[in-house]
Amino acid sequence: MLVAGNWKMFKGPAETARFLDELDVPAGVEAIVCPPFPSLADAMGHGVSVFAQNVHWANEGAFTGEVSATMLLELGVEGALVGHSERRQLFGETDGTVRLRCERALEAGLRVIACVGETETEREEGRTEEVLRRQVAAIPRHDALVIAYEPVWAIGTGKTATPELAQAAHELIKAEHSTAVLYGGSVKPENAAELMALPAIDGALVGGASLEPASFAAICRAAIT
Ligand code: PEP
Repeated sequence: MLVAGNWKMFKGPAETARFLDELDVPAGVEAIVCPPFPSLADAMGHGVSVFAQNVHWANEGAFTGEVSATMLLELGVEGALVGHSERRQLFGETDGTVRLRCERALEAGLRVIACVGETETEREEGRTEEVLRRQVAAIPRHDALVIAYEPVWAIGTGKTATPELAQAAHELIKAEHSTAVLYGGSVKPENAAELMALPAIDGALVGGASLEPASFAAICRAAIT
């Protein structure tokens, strides 16, 4: 089981080190943390895997605000999130740029968690399958890549997909792309065990509840019960 914490734009270097000193991960779970870029170096050496929240497709160049796979590898970072819905919705990320970021990161030797998920409107309009198929088609096939299914309407809203809905979406994704699929969207200690017990769910990508060591550790424990 893999449980990844996406810290978004929270936790500077000192808070990152404090968090990881306190974190107690049970055996049988791979815990990944995804701190903001300035905190990556301080996340190293605490016994958890460290991923960046984004990675550019070029090695270097005039790309203000971006970071390359080779720079992340030099720092000791193991992987990167790609295509999170906040990147897609707020920063113009497209299926095309998701593909480029994934391809380059994998080629360079990073692991990747590639995110997909439908918006509330797309679900209401009955377009969930079409959207997921399109997003998944843009994601390269590679042993070092896993997909995270994160219905956009469930991110940071407290709304969680029902087990039936999550299972169906994960089955659809797995039919298109044979990889592990993590579930993300308001995962908390209280709902993690039920979600992680579903056969098509291979772990979790956690936002808000990954910001406290106790709740992140509780989700890691729930993932293996
Ligand atoms: C996320 O941003 O990846 C996420 C799943 O957030 P939350 O757990 O807060 O819904």
